[in-house]
Amino acid sequence: MGIEEKLPAGVLLTSVEKLVNWSRKSSVWGATFGLACCAIEMMAAGGPHYDMGRWGMEVFRASPRQADLMIVAGRVSQKMAPVLRQIYDQMAEPRWVLSMGVCASSGGMFNNYAIVQGVDHVVPVDMYLPGCPPRPEMLIDAILKLREKIMYEPLGPNGRKMQAARLERGDVP
Ligand code: SF4
Repeated sequence: MGIEEKLPAGVLLTSVEKLVNWSRKSSVWGATFGLACCAIEMMAAGGPHYDMGRWGMEVFRASPRQADLMIVAGRVSQKMAPVLRQIYDQMAEPRWVLSMGVCASSGGMFNNYAIVQGVDHVVPVDMYLPGCPPRPEMLIDAILKLREKIMYEPLGPNGRKMQAARLERGDVP
């Protein structure tokens, strides 16, 4: 009798899911990508004072192919939007997007034709962080919350949709 038959249904799969998600959340590498003043706070968060190495993410990658987190740090101009989308497309799955600051999330005070009124018009956003600019502690807090989200993300191509349903039902802690 194989191990799958001895264990209750789903036990093995659940354990694999937890292990994979644990390893994913423990090595979230950000893409080096700053757009405006919020990026200064993002760079500060990456410095030794805040020591993001505690969460396995002390490195920002210059190549999108080596990164799995895009921190949109600052307002997104209409001209920059296609570039941002291209960088996102070059990142391998699974990938996450954190919208840092009010400008990235909604255009902020730049309610004009030159600025995208929310980066979720260009890429799907997993976490929104308010503030102008958010302090490094706030960015770290948002990343920690994103890590919690990653931990409960179902595996597979429909993982995101399934997680959205779980969140709606309140199943995710
Ligand atoms: Fe700059 Fe504030 Fe906009 Fe961030 S939210 S890009 S700090 S104006």
